[in-house]
Amino acid sequence: MTKSSYADEMTPKERIEAVLSGKPFDRIPCSINPHYHAAKLIGVNHWDCYFSAEKVAEVQLASHQIFGAEAVIAGPGLHGIAEAAGSTVVYPKEENSPYISEFAIREEGDLERLTVPNPWVKGHLPIHLSALQILIDRLGTKVPVTTNVAGPFTVAANLRGTEPFLRDLYQNSEFAHRLLHYALESTLAYVREAAKTGVKISIADPTASTSLISPGHFYEYAFPYLEKLAGQIKSLTGSAPSLHICGNTKKIWQHMADTGAGILSLDDTVDLAAAKITVGSRTALLGNVKPTATMFLGKPADVLEEAKECLRKAYDNPKGYILALGCGLPMKAPVENIHALFQAAREFGRYPIEPESWN
Ligand SMILES: [Zn+2]
Repeated sequence: MTKSSYADEMTPKERIEAVLSGKPFDRIPCSINPHYHAAKLIGVNHWDCYFSAEKVAEVQLASHQIFGAEAVIAGPGLHGIAEAAGSTVVYPKEENSPYISEFAIREEGDLERLTVPNPWVKGHLPIHLSALQILIDRLGTKVPVTTNVAGPFTVAANLRGTEPFLRDLYQNSEFAHRLLHYALESTLAYVREAAKTGVKISIADPTASTSLISPGHFYEYAFPYLEKLAGQIKSLTGSAPSLHICGNTKKIWQHMADTGAGILSLDDTVDLAAAKITVGSRTALLGNVKPTATMFLGKPADVLEEAKECLRKAYDNPKGYILALGCGLPMKAPVENIHALFQAAREFGRYPIEPESWN
């Protein structure tokens, strides 16, 4: 099956805008960003991308050209805001994700000494902002340019350390809220600058997963700050952000929709058909092919089968559906599997969608 036999009628930008505004579109979008794989294919060391806006942009352009990635991305991700505020992030040369080696806030008094980081000066934020500007200039008329930020709960955990922060929720609620407020303000300082370039914004808040905290704690500590962040993003960019939370989020789907997020990105542990019934009339859904079992360990045929299953369950979601993985794309997922997921969107996600004929 060649790519050309399923020629797209719309640009990725036109398609996602149509999906999210309820207008007709040619096929279901596919949202994965295989930048590590693209970097390898064009001979760019992924490590160099941590330090160069030009390399980030080069790899994102390759991801669009080689795989047909339907959005290009640069941004602070899970650690960038905490790093800008004072936590230390390690960037491994091997194919491992960056991690925090030292947290900015060891005791309560440390928070008082922190100021909201200037995103044009601190950490790697200037690199992300410059990369976004290059991507907007190069591709912005036809491909959505997105920046990814962590939710305030995750930023707070990355400033304090996850275990001490989760203890604070029980032992020092007032401090936890002050820390969350600081995390929100620091994130917003970056978001305000990013929004000026004309990008869309996605939020991931993995530490706010109900695998780690109760739905009650989610509502008390994560929800109010996510709601403020999503509201500000919508007013600054004109688009409601997407929101990803890992794990079984079923008990907080309504809260996730109440934040004002326009797209809920769901983990593979939850059922898209159930999400469609519960929140599908309020938000678009995105997900949820298994990143490890299928994308990393499976064969292209397995990816196609699971993608068809996701499409079958969610293509008719009232507020729209985007084919994607349930969580991050493993760095070592086979390239054929990535092509297979895009193929599934082009072949089986094309209108008219007729799941009964797929057998
Ligand atoms: Zn996740």
